[in-house]
Amino acid sequence: MIQIITAENAGFCFGVERAIEIAEKTAERCGEIYTLGELIHNETAVSRLREKGIVPVNDVSECVGKTLVLRSHGVPRATEQEARRVCAEVVDATCPFVRKIHRIAGELPKEAKLIVMGDREHPEVVGIMGHAQCIAFACRAFGEVEALFTSGEITPDDNAVMVFQTTFDRGKYSEITEKVRTEFPRVKIYDTVCNATVKRQQSAVELAKRAALMIVVGGRSSSNTRKLFEICGRYCKTVFAADASELPVQIIKDLRSDSIIGITAGASTPVDTIKEVHEKMNKEIIKNNENEEDFASLLEQDDQSFNRLYAGKRVKATVVSVSKKEAVVEVSAKQTGYITLEELTNDPNAQVEDIVKPGDEIEAVVIKVDDSVGTAALSKKRVDADRNLEKLMALKESGEIVEGNVAQAVKGGVIVIYENTRVFIPASQSGVPHGGKLEDLKGKPVKFKIIEATNERGGRVVGSIRQATRERREAERAKFWETIEVGQKFEGEVRSIENYGVFVDIGPIDGLVHTADLTWNRVSNPKDIVNIGDKLTVVVKSFDPEKKRVSLSAKNPDENPWTKFLEEYSKGDVIKATVVSITEFGAFAQIIPGVDGLIHISQISTERVTDIKSVLKIGQEVEVKIIDIDEEKNRVSLSIRALMESGESSEE
Ligand code: SF4
Repeated sequence: MIQIITAENAGFCFGVERAIEIAEKTAERCGEIYTLGELIHNETAVSRLREKGIVPVNDVSECVGKTLVLRSHGVPRATEQEARRVCAEVVDATCPFVRKIHRIAGELPKEAKLIVMGDREHPEVVGIMGHAQCIAFACRAFGEVEALFTSGEITPDDNAVMVFQTTFDRGKYSEITEKVRTEFPRVKIYDTVCNATVKRQQSAVELAKRAALMIVVGGRSSSNTRKLFEICGRYCKTVFAADASELPVQIIKDLRSDSIIGITAGASTPVDTIKEVHEKMNKEIIKNNENEEDFASLLEQDDQSFNRLYAGKRVKATVVSVSKKEAVVEVSAKQTGYITLEELTNDPNAQVEDIVKPGDEIEAVVIKVDDSVGTAALSKKRVDADRNLEKLMALKESGEIVEGNVAQAVKGGVIVIYENTRVFIPASQSGVPHGGKLEDLKGKPVKFKIIEATNERGGRVVGSIRQATRERREAERAKFWETIEVGQKFEGEVRSIENYGVFVDIGPIDGLVHTADLTWNRVSNPKDIVNIGDKLTVVVKSFDPEKKRVSLSAKNPDENPWTKFLEEYSKGDVIKATVVSITEFGAFAQIIPGVDGLIHISQISTERVTDIKSVLKIGQEVEVKIIDIDEEKNRVSLSIRALMESGESSEE
């Protein structure tokens, strides 16, 4: 019986799946939205997206004032700038792996030479070239690179850099880079071939080597689908099919009964289309079988062969029951499997029932089959890890901050579980000070950045809490300087006390409350009225974003003694005041707490005064006349002499 096998990693890649999700969410939020070019190279999928209000356009001018989503291929810098200028909103769904190449191209100096290996007409290559400020060349093969050097367009001494279209054939990549390293050793090569593409191509090759026929499902305009077709064609007969309706079904008549038909699909092929192709081919095989009468039993046989389990096979399973140690699953009507807690999750603190419950449909990989009892041991965590690795690699590129729970402290760091993947955070990146206890982080949610994600050594993912914290603080600081205003109020905490004032923590930065701004009353030393850790309500008096300085005041405007003074006192009033300080030019006397008036040396007596201290003493209560009030400068002038001359008194 002819067997049909679908290759691992066939269909949507991470970047396409992400772009579709972003577009669908944007359409839900905004109604009709536009994409610059088709979001995916697949007619069926594009028309389904149209029904959801996601409409492809060819030029930015077609969506002026509208919402535009940039698809996973990315666009040239100028196109993005134009879109941001004329569209109401631009949502960037460029795949983070493509963004990384934009960064490499964009950071090259003007005198550098960029070589982009790929299809020069492909939007991704056009986008990459459009991010370079230097001269950029697109080449398909080594011969074209060689021609650039022989024609003198690039000289051996030039600062030449080579990047690859993400969907470039991995085999050709190795051939080309080997030759470039030998012939033009000064060319700096960046491996930008996407892992999803590599995996898809590898599993297609593995299958094509065993198969008599390969069916490549996907749009002919999709470059990665065309590459799959080319690669598979090196090993066996290969045909293209955009969907099930295009299948050349008569071809199976030429196949032997023990043949394998392999199916693979490009990054833009929806899973439903792959399934439809599989099912149609399956039915054709059965129809062509000579034993038409036993049609039903063949169907059943086929079902069994299709579902035959072997180590490494990925299967869909339904959870039947859960216990403390494992989950029992049904793989097909006749096959039972079990997944131990250790193979369900990487989280040592999790319980089976935290992860799955009866009735859940999950994806797992077969680890071992025991034919004698008809059961199979499966692993869910290996499928999760495989799927997540791509996502984590993209997170590393995008620099996004994510959140996970610290599962355990290990030698040299802690393990955080993020979407069922173990992320190692080295002690130096944990944010715990040297000598601090990493154990204290156990069980806590933490925000971190992925700083390494590789499938080497069985998949290694490293994170940094420190970098995430630093970035968050920098972002908070930037926002603080953008939004700060004079008069803005903060609840702060006293961090340090100096003779001239106190530093108050108001979130992203510490501001200074000068001693004179601590209270309306006269204070000689801030330590007399505040302690470290005290909570203070402060308002911004002034700020300098260049010098990163903020001046604060802790004086409550509602308690402003000047308001009270102006309400109760007027020029000409005769009052009692207490001398609080003596200077060379006069004495200050407190009228009410927070308001002192100056008795100028010339206003102390009708007699000439040369030594104020021989006439007035600190703490002495004196009768004075208010001779002037400067409301703008908050100054009051007092006089004893005026009373001596007029004979007035506050007692009158
Ligand atoms: Fe998909 Fe890779 Fe291209 Fe991103 S770079 S869109 S993950 S193929």
